[in-house]
Amino acid sequence: MSVMDIFATMEYGPAPEAAAPALDWIKERQPFGLFINNQWVQPSSGEYLESVSPATGRLLARVAAAGSADVDAAVAAARAAFATWSETSGHVRARYLYAIARHIQKHSRLLAVLESLDNGKSIRETRDIDIPLVARHFYYHAGWAQLMASELPGYQPVGVVGQIIPWNFPLLMLAWKIAPALAMGNTVVLKPARYTPLTALKFAEIVQEIGLPPGVVNIVTGEASQAGEALVKHPDVNKIAFTGSTEVGRSIRRATAGSGKKLSLELGGKSPFIVFDDADLDSVIEGIVDAIWFNQGQVCCAGSRLLVQEDIAEPLIARLRARMEKLRTGDSLDKAIDIGAIVSPGQLKEIQRLVDQGVAEGAEMWQPQWTPPSEGCYFPPTLFTNVSPASTLAQVEIFGPVLVAMTFRTPAEAVALANNTPYGLAASVWSENINLALDIAPRLKAGSVWINCTNLFDASSGFGGYRESGFGREGGKEGLYEYVRPAWETHAEATSATTEERAARAPERDGASENGTSPDGASGEMIDDKLSTPGQSNGHAFAAMLPAIDRTPKLFIGGKQVRPDSGYSRSIYTPDGRLIGEVGEGNRKDIRNAVEAAHAASGWASASTHNRAQILYYLAENLSIREDEFARRIVQQTGRSYADAASEVQVTLSRLFSYAAWCDKFEGVVHRPPLRGVVLAMPEAIGVMGIACPDDYPLLGFISLVAPAMAMGNTVVVVPSQRSPLSATDCYQVFETSDLPGGVVNIVTGERDSLAQLLAEHDDVDAVWYFGGTEGSRRVEFASAGNMKRTWVNYGRARNWLDALQGEGEEFLREATQVKNIWVPYGE
Ligand code: NAD
Ligand code: MN
Repeated sequence: MSVMDIFATMEYGPAPEAAAPALDWIKERQPFGLFINNQWVQPSSGEYLESVSPATGRLLARVAAAGSADVDAAVAAARAAFATWSETSGHVRARYLYAIARHIQKHSRLLAVLESLDNGKSIRETRDIDIPLVARHFYYHAGWAQLMASELPGYQPVGVVGQIIPWNFPLLMLAWKIAPALAMGNTVVLKPARYTPLTALKFAEIVQEIGLPPGVVNIVTGEASQAGEALVKHPDVNKIAFTGSTEVGRSIRRATAGSGKKLSLELGGKSPFIVFDDADLDSVIEGIVDAIWFNQGQVCCAGSRLLVQEDIAEPLIARLRARMEKLRTGDSLDKAIDIGAIVSPGQLKEIQRLVDQGVAEGAEMWQPQWTPPSEGCYFPPTLFTNVSPASTLAQVEIFGPVLVAMTFRTPAEAVALANNTPYGLAASVWSENINLALDIAPRLKAGSVWINCTNLFDASSGFGGYRESGFGREGGKEGLYEYVRPAWETHAEATSATTEERAARAPERDGASENGTSPDGASGEMIDDKLSTPGQSNGHAFAAMLPAIDRTPKLFIGGKQVRPDSGYSRSIYTPDGRLIGEVGEGNRKDIRNAVEAAHAASGWASASTHNRAQILYYLAENLSIREDEFARRIVQQTGRSYADAASEVQVTLSRLFSYAAWCDKFEGVVHRPPLRGVVLAMPEAIGVMGIACPDDYPLLGFISLVAPAMAMGNTVVVVPSQRSPLSATDCYQVFETSDLPGGVVNIVTGERDSLAQLLAEHDDVDAVWYFGGTEGSRRVEFASAGNMKRTWVNYGRARNWLDALQGEGEEFLREATQVKNIWVPYGE
């Protein structure tokens, strides 16, 4: 027998990692209690859950099942700790995070073995990927704790954060949640997934070891329906950070609607893996192995849809099958396996169910000749061809080692197929033509795009979804904003809860502002005088008001003024009750038309930033020509003094200039993660946005919201101030004369809260901003769960639109964009 023969025929021998140290660690400690205030406490129910090794079916440990009383205790501990932790200097927090990172490294093998035992994933992955990334995440965020004061001025921690994580990357998801939260001065209560609590419990020991102040990190194990729900509903939790299924994410969005809790959701995916015919096929094959068989395919961003250019489909599939024959499945502690065990029998059954359904729907299934071990939870690597784009296999997240292949002919077809899913987590693009790959990347609806690589992660580069894959980012500077809020918000007053309440209070407030002005008081009174005595029409101010009475502005849709579908108008009055005009009463049909027009104008997102800036400057120019008329319109609608109104117009012009300026300056960054290559973090437009404007500052409030959304390339459907919409409708001519493409800004007047709700319910709207009352905020958040659109609401709190700190700036730009991270490795 020659060496060559041996090389070709040699079988792998077993190469097991020792389980004993981890099993001993468990034996000495179980049953595990809950980790509250740096102490191990028994659950109030006295009940325990079992944690099992999916590779062997063997019982590993008993862990506490927390109930709502335990969650209360954990939240109370976190609240008490927040008072001091949030005041602790960034440097001191950095030292703690640094200590955590060091201790993760010191215990790295125990953590890797525990993770493999508990989850069933291969030791090769936990040792080389999960645990190193965990340490890296704490180091990286130690840095942000150190730099918070200088790099995030004006921001403060959110408070007590409830964090809920899935079982697929138990310790890594913990790190993604806890590191940024602590760095920014928050305290946390974290609930691990039911199947995989063990590394979180080892992490709790590390928290004790490094002497983190009690209550900063609390870990409550338990069932979703007990511990999970109690955490989500807890009134003293300020934010929920969730990673898991889209279905549960949706229920959490509804459960927290209107509560004022901040929310970030990292949900499911059905990510495309796109192979062009000039790709390097050897790399592609290994890429596919990583994309769909890494972690048994139980990866939210798994490349589960293989999209292949038609002319190379046959050879690629043949090579892939040959490679699949060589994959090895087995015990998670065997160092020489490729695919470990599925996390639980239930999950295994679900994979089988979806695979059976795929076969029933006519797709062609292929599995290698070999069979996985019969004991334990194993599923063989599986490839489907002849899959139609609308079928279950192509649309539903399987969360297992199942790849579905489809073909395309042209790049445009590849993009269309790739985006043909409600999800938007990740995508890979394979081509040796860098021009092609970089042209495709921005067209994919996904938070991460990997060029000639896949499933790469780093703390420096944010991760998170577009569309129904959720919102918010983990990692990168953008991830920090999920754990802070502007400091001024703490002192923000409540506005009256509803429009009706506001209207009732208006005269009182307006009276106050009239008395409060001194040099401008005179002109304000003059105009109010003219309003109350319409007979004297010789005044310059009054003459300018006359046409408004008989001119009824229509809606503004697709660049045209159109009649409202309802055929009804809404009367607009001065604060003291005189009719000053009428506007269209918008309804569902008008919203639908406006959304359609906004979609048709989506080319706005690819207009050059210079071009968008030019149009915003032009809007300012054309508005400035009519300053006096706009000021008087504000006086008429609000009863404020002329000087006050004139200054609202001036601030509005300045605001337009600000966002014209930002157009080509809010640009993203280049990350340098530890690999040969770069990651381009690009803020992209979200798409079609619905915007409901505040009642105050009818012009400034309107422009303060529309301008940043437009500047970033979104197209918008705006509901202007319900009480004072005429400042917005007066802008129609300004829009028409400023080269603004039709459909970029659409305006539907009418009842703010019901129109905002229609926008929030609309599946083709990608984000909704709402600045009104508390109930309206709740309704928008609740309705947004349909397609998991992003929302930004004020919970009935006032914002001083005149103040640049509150009324403009990067907060608005961040809310108007989503970050896409494009990974571009170097080298041959
Ligand atoms: P899951 O949504 O069922 O559970 C996730 C976590 O939420 C668990 O800790 C669970 O106990 C808890 N939970 C479940 N219902 C709850 C409720 N009503 N209230 C509060 N908590 C509740 O998901 P899973 O089965 O554990 O994980 C698989 C899913 O997670 C997949 O769909 C996958 O795509 C997704 N995932 C997403 C990411 C991401 O970053 N986007 C990462 C990993 C997993
Ligand atoms: Mn387990």
